[in-house]
Amino acid sequence: MIKRNANFNPGPAALPLDVLKTVQEELLDYQGSGISILESSHRAKEFEAINDQTVVLIRELLGLGTDYQVLFMGGGASTQFALIPMNFIEDGQIAAYVDTGEFASKALKECQIVARAHVAFSSKEEKYRRLPKMSEIKYPEDAAYLHLCSNNTIEGTQFWEFPDTGNVPLIADMSSDIASRRLDFKKFSLIYAGAQKNLGPAGVTLVVIRDDFLAKGKKGLPTMLSYKTYADNKSLYNTPPVFGVYIMKLVLEWIKSKGGLVGVEKLNAAKKDLLYSAIDAAPDFYKGTADKDSRSWMNVTMRLPNEDLENKFIDAAKKEGLLGIKGHRSVGGIRFSIYNAVSLEDIQKTVDFMGKFRKSV
Ligand SMILES: *Cc1c(COP(=O)(O)O)cnc(C)c1O
Repeated sequence: MIKRNANFNPGPAALPLDVLKTVQEELLDYQGSGISILESSHRAKEFEAINDQTVVLIRELLGLGTDYQVLFMGGGASTQFALIPMNFIEDGQIAAYVDTGEFASKALKECQIVARAHVAFSSKEEKYRRLPKMSEIKYPEDAAYLHLCSNNTIEGTQFWEFPDTGNVPLIADMSSDIASRRLDFKKFSLIYAGAQKNLGPAGVTLVVIRDDFLAKGKKGLPTMLSYKTYADNKSLYNTPPVFGVYIMKLVLEWIKSKGGLVGVEKLNAAKKDLLYSAIDAAPDFYKGTADKDSRSWMNVTMRLPNEDLENKFIDAAKKEGLLGIKGHRSVGGIRFSIYNAVSLEDIQKTVDFMGKFRKSV
């Protein structure tokens, strides 16, 4: 028996065990081809089928039509921070950014390197503890787009309502909560997500972009920096991250087998309820860091009375097989990243451990 620990890593993060087993089974001989998918040409029919099926699965799960192009890119979500303003801000135009955390603020800063940005809202002064009310988001009517981060991975906050932006295209970094809940994805002109949290391994970034927005893309950019190149060539202009796309396909099939977004949302709701209840039941010891109405279902952040106890907590948890719970180095504390692949049983183990640990000190 192979021992599998509870994995709360923020990213790369837990993958469904069934997916890992399929990868293992198929690794040496991919579906009778006699070679590994790692060794196949990205132009071979085996990979083409994977590529096409992954596009179909994304559209199906997110409820999108063929007017949305599904792209597989490299460079992580962080490269998107720069590509978006490079492709979509015309000379003299300004783009609007909602600043709700470290990644949202990085996106804003990258924009400022290549174009002009307007800060539509910032909770930086409040240590990013909360998200805006829709009425607090303010931006020029002719903004090139409004950018926000749907789930703030480091701070543990998540949007549950999205602004109606009318003619201003809405863009979201959904790296840490894509495909974890139902959402009206059609509200967005562009969605992007590094795969390594909810969709697969590191190395592939999903971009979903609506045709009317894609058509607005600037001409004259270097080939690999233009979204049009990926859309016109089914993400096969150059060699795509083939292994990442393959695993993403398996993860999407796994999500489907769990009842799609309805199914995973239900499971995720049960997980976060259990964990936040344990935190709130001991407010003198465990303190949630995000405002209650901004709390994330994916990244649950908390503090203990002091750093020494936090370190002891992390060490003791590790001994119990609960891994990856140290908060981001920029904020400290504890963070449980409870993405789709983390089970309810793992949360139950954690909650039991939290009770035991509190009594032990
Ligand atoms: C992890 C993360 C990123 C950074 O992703 P990379 O793929 O490492 O560039 C960006 N945004 C959010 C919301 C994230 O969670």
